[in-house]
Amino acid sequence: MIIVMQPDAGDSDIAAVEAKIRAHGLDVHVSRGTERTLIGAIGDERKLDPEMFDPMPGVERSLHILKPYKLVAREWHKASTIVDVRGARIGGSDVQIIAGPCSVETDSQMHAAAAGVATAGARLMRGGAFKPRTSPYAFQGKGVEGLAMLKNAAARYNLPIVTELMDVRMLDTFLEHDVDVIQIGTRNMQNFDLLKEVGKVNVPVILKRGMSATISEWLMAAEYIAAGGNHRIMLCERGIRTFETAYRNVLDVTAVAVLKKETHLPVIVDPSHAGGKAWMVPALSCAAIAAGADALLIEVHPCPTEAWCDADQALSIDEFGGLMQRLRALTQAMGRALSRPNTERHLETIA
Ligand code: PEP
Ligand code: MN
Repeated sequence: MIIVMQPDAGDSDIAAVEAKIRAHGLDVHVSRGTERTLIGAIGDERKLDPEMFDPMPGVERSLHILKPYKLVAREWHKASTIVDVRGARIGGSDVQIIAGPCSVETDSQMHAAAAGVATAGARLMRGGAFKPRTSPYAFQGKGVEGLAMLKNAAARYNLPIVTELMDVRMLDTFLEHDVDVIQIGTRNMQNFDLLKEVGKVNVPVILKRGMSATISEWLMAAEYIAAGGNHRIMLCERGIRTFETAYRNVLDVTAVAVLKKETHLPVIVDPSHAGGKAWMVPALSCAAIAAGADALLIEVHPCPTEAWCDADQALSIDEFGGLMQRLRALTQAMGRALSRPNTERHLETIA
């Protein structure tokens, strides 16, 4: 960290800053220029914060030199992390597709969805059992019963499941139901107690971007999970709030390129919540893969018009199958491969 002193800062102001730095176990390097003095803190600067110095007499401003996140930064961990979810590797050369309905509704809906997404080539299945709805009067999800419905439907095709955890009190239930990937939704990206708890378990986590979060805030949220010991973290860009009202959110494709440089964690894109309309999903999916996304999280429903949640953005099974064909060609052109349906496994499980 560097502390920039005001031009008229006195020796006692400089000494006080030096003493504060040393009190935190860091060394000090003072550079006296003709205009002003700069004080450098040498050591682990993450122990320091500009708030500690900015109010002190004679201080103009203080700034970090290093990034505030460490465990998730590519600066400290050059190789890309691959998160292996029961054989589906996210972050490697294959682009993985996670698909399924917004919410778990009925057994027949879930079985039709599982059959459809597995056959088209999805390697993981999504479905919300606990739904964060804007209105308290809207369908809130099937709850625990929904976890079992998702697990049963996905198990027939050996698809690992991805589902949202909203409440820390449900974590044990998620573990009992063998949830393969815990999704932290946009509204909980900075629920630090929730992040700390998922940081203690050995279950992969998809951390969605807060709808108004900066990339730095998002990576700091991921750092919370990593700091607890859980390094199986995937980041999911799902669109951000801007001044534009013509669509649900703005897919921040730039974030994908920036994240691939800034962090070694896999990057997922959710084109469904970004656009909010099914017809936008193919274009946004292509843009995401072209920008370097490692996986897509896509909402698919056997009968979109009847969906209990996010009906407008759900692809039908046929539309999803068509999109998968397009994505297969695109990933090849990008020198990657798209996840493939494991037909052998299907035959085994169906037999
Ligand atoms: C979801 O994936 O169904 C969801 C609610 O996503 P988000 O948190 O991005 O709104
Ligand atoms: Mn949804």
